[in-house]
Amino acid sequence: MALVETKFDGSPLHIERSDHPYRRAIMQLYRKNLLRVILILGCATAQAVHAQDSQVTGVIIEDVRIFDGRSDRLSAPSNVLVVGNVIKTISTTPIADAAGITVRRIRGGGRTLMPGLIDNHWHTMLARPSPKEAIEGDLGYTNLLAGAEAQATLMRGFTAVRDLGGPSFGLKRAIDEGLVVGPRVYPSGAMITITGGHGDFRSPSELPRQLGGKLSRMEVVNGSMVADSPDEVRVRVREQLLLGASQIKLTAGGGVASPHSPLDVSTFTEDELRAAIQAAENWGTYVTVHAYTPIAIQRAIAAGVKVIEHGHLMDEATAKLMAEKGIWLSFQPFTDDGFAPPMAPANMLRLRQVWTGTEQTIALAKKYNIKMAFGTDILFSAAGATRQGAELVKMHKWYSAPELLRMATGTNADLLKLSGPRDPYPGKLGAVEEGALADLLLVNGDPLTNIKLVQDPEKNFMVIMKDGKIFKNLLP
Ligand SMILES: [Zn+2]
Repeated sequence: MALVETKFDGSPLHIERSDHPYRRAIMQLYRKNLLRVILILGCATAQAVHAQDSQVTGVIIEDVRIFDGRSDRLSAPSNVLVVGNVIKTISTTPIADAAGITVRRIRGGGRTLMPGLIDNHWHTMLARPSPKEAIEGDLGYTNLLAGAEAQATLMRGFTAVRDLGGPSFGLKRAIDEGLVVGPRVYPSGAMITITGGHGDFRSPSELPRQLGGKLSRMEVVNGSMVADSPDEVRVRVREQLLLGASQIKLTAGGGVASPHSPLDVSTFTEDELRAAIQAAENWGTYVTVHAYTPIAIQRAIAAGVKVIEHGHLMDEATAKLMAEKGIWLSFQPFTDDGFAPPMAPANMLRLRQVWTGTEQTIALAKKYNIKMAFGTDILFSAAGATRQGAELVKMHKWYSAPELLRMATGTNADLLKLSGPRDPYPGKLGAVEEGALADLLLVNGDPLTNIKLVQDPEKNFMVIMKDGKIFKNLLP
């Protein structure tokens, strides 16, 4: 039976009769003041939602040996309690159920518990599509494609990625809201380039550009933005910050995959770089630049850049400078391993040149103890993207397994945290310790002695947890 009352404007209002305890009180109040009824209903709803939120759930992972993201060795057999999204307790003695917490137990069976992997140079929107699809394709489709790739990324054990160019804000939001399965995303938004620089994918027929005129397709979708003066740079940087960028990416020199920029060119002037850095620092964050050559790297450092992406063609003086100034090297193990994406001959030539520098740069980074982060930078290749973990294993030629695992967890997390107040996920990442955010992998074996476990995540990662939530569990 429906109760019929009238609103202030005299029109009928229907409220279904129910046994809800608030009903009588609401109806009494309603007769006095509709606004107050709305407020009380709102409070009741908020209380119900809050009650749901405060129903605390926990996970106890029993009998695991821990790689904590920093150490060279595994812990003694331990138990780990995760409450909400945080690691609450780590103990070598059994952890009892706590009052008021619904606990799920996972029997680790002596396996290794480690932090989720972090890829510090990833392109959530550009890893899987072809260049043509990424630039000219239907936006709905490319977003769905990136969503599928985000799920695959998390299933490879990568629980966080630093996105270094591409319109990733929408996907990031969908992941954070739980609509799409994927890693934590530290977005740069559009990479910022100059006319003819790395990331300028326009065709010659789109020239000349009229300042303040029509934007190109890649700019409309916020994939990369062209800026040819300090003022233009400032505008483009501030736009990315408005959209939620956790750091800013500029291309300071030529690149492999772009159509117009030879590797040797240095692109932004020091003034332009400074404009970007100032705008980013005003927002408490930093600028990272794509740069291979000594001139591009050195100019970026002179302007105040904190991180260099790639660096494969650096020389000794540049390495020394990076070490002295504490500049991060975000490195990718580009080698001729038969997995290069399809490329035009001119681009292939540039890629070969980069390959020749890989060995030398690693030697310099070791010699001068440069702060080294790991990333993959897989672009435009669905098959290549499946090799994300294998890229870390590839570096075993130069680094021990503990060094690599540290790099891809604790050290990479240190780099993510340069975002300061723009960090979208405040809290400790890349660590298995009390108080850290619960991004965890349960590994079938000991990766500290067998790094190859990382390249077959489907088989070897038994449990994948991100932000306290289990996304994969092969155990009973
Ligand atoms: Zn890249």
